[in-house]
Amino acid sequence: MSIRIGILGYGNLGRGVECAIKHNPDTELVAVFTRRDPETVKILTETAKVYSVKDAEKLKDEIDVLIICGGSATDLPVQTPEYVKYFNVVDSFDTHKKIPEHFANVDKAAAESGHVGIISVGWDPGMFSLNRMYANAILTNGNDYTFWGKGVSQGHSDAVRRIKGVKDAKQYTIPVEAALEAVRNGENPELTTRQKHTRECFVVAEEGADLARIEEEIKTMPNYFDEYDTTVHFISQEELDRDHSGIPHGGFVIRSGKTGWNNENSHVIEYSLKLDSNPEFTSSVIVAYARAAYRMNQEGQKGCKTVFDVAPAYLSALDGAELRKKFL
Ligand code: NDP
Repeated sequence: MSIRIGILGYGNLGRGVECAIKHNPDTELVAVFTRRDPETVKILTETAKVYSVKDAEKLKDEIDVLIICGGSATDLPVQTPEYVKYFNVVDSFDTHKKIPEHFANVDKAAAESGHVGIISVGWDPGMFSLNRMYANAILTNGNDYTFWGKGVSQGHSDAVRRIKGVKDAKQYTIPVEAALEAVRNGENPELTTRQKHTRECFVVAEEGADLARIEEEIKTMPNYFDEYDTTVHFISQEELDRDHSGIPHGGFVIRSGKTGWNNENSHVIEYSLKLDSNPEFTSSVIVAYARAAYRMNQEGQKGCKTVFDVAPAYLSALDGAELRKKFL
């Protein structure tokens, strides 16, 4: 019998999870829940139905894992502790600083209801966190580096769009190649924010807008751009739609460390991602962790978990014998 999945919230991630389920034959989509009018939300899976989020609780016996696809800013802090009362859940909460608080809230509700809630699943947090942790456990004497990009930052794109005279915009975060190379060479450089990443903006301005002022406002925007070298390109809406409609992302997690009695030997561990679609990749990670949530709960586990608490074999559709034969 396949693992019965529900999706709560049908945005980029919700659509990505639906695709990932298609590529994981041991899982099946049962329902999509939305806060909008269900009639207006069209899904691709013919065998699943769209329901109002108000009906979610009623389907608790028909769903093994509910994947919560709301936004991190205001949706997930409320939705994940609420729905773990009725379901095993997985979310992608990515406000790093607030993870301890979110963990505590989900853990309390999950322990009381007897479900498993795996939070902060995706690539960062998620696969990047796991690789930082593995590398630190192995090379105890060393330095950590994370570079993001090349990729679209939704938050920075929104910030540019809010500037007066800007009609539409897309912002890319790009790692500085020279910094990457220095890290890979085991030079252990100390890098400032400016030395690690650059930012590139593609902006569609309203007719007659003052382009020099817009460029200046972008480059000096506190917290978002002032600490970076930023390039601004003004383009047409057609060019933006044609060349910049995707949501690519990726990055590098690198740890370089020393071993040997006198630290004479260097080692570099590197994990990198190059993603055509950030939400589709994130969703693929989430579906693997949904499989784990189901299995762990079947074994009697409950409470909140992160990627650190999930043994690798739980993620794979293959059983132990197959895994040992194929990958060991
Ligand atoms: P979206 O903005 O696309 O969707 C968020 C919610 O908004 C949806 O669940 C949906 O809820 C609602 N929504 C979506 N489209 C519409 C619409 N047309 N009209 C009205 N409401 C809509 O966010 P994403 O799916 O891109 O991302 C969700 C979160 O995932 C992000 O906040 C981010 O924090 C996290 N994330 C984490 C990553 C990681 O590596 N850990 C990587 C990428 C993202 P409803 O159906 O109920 O209306």
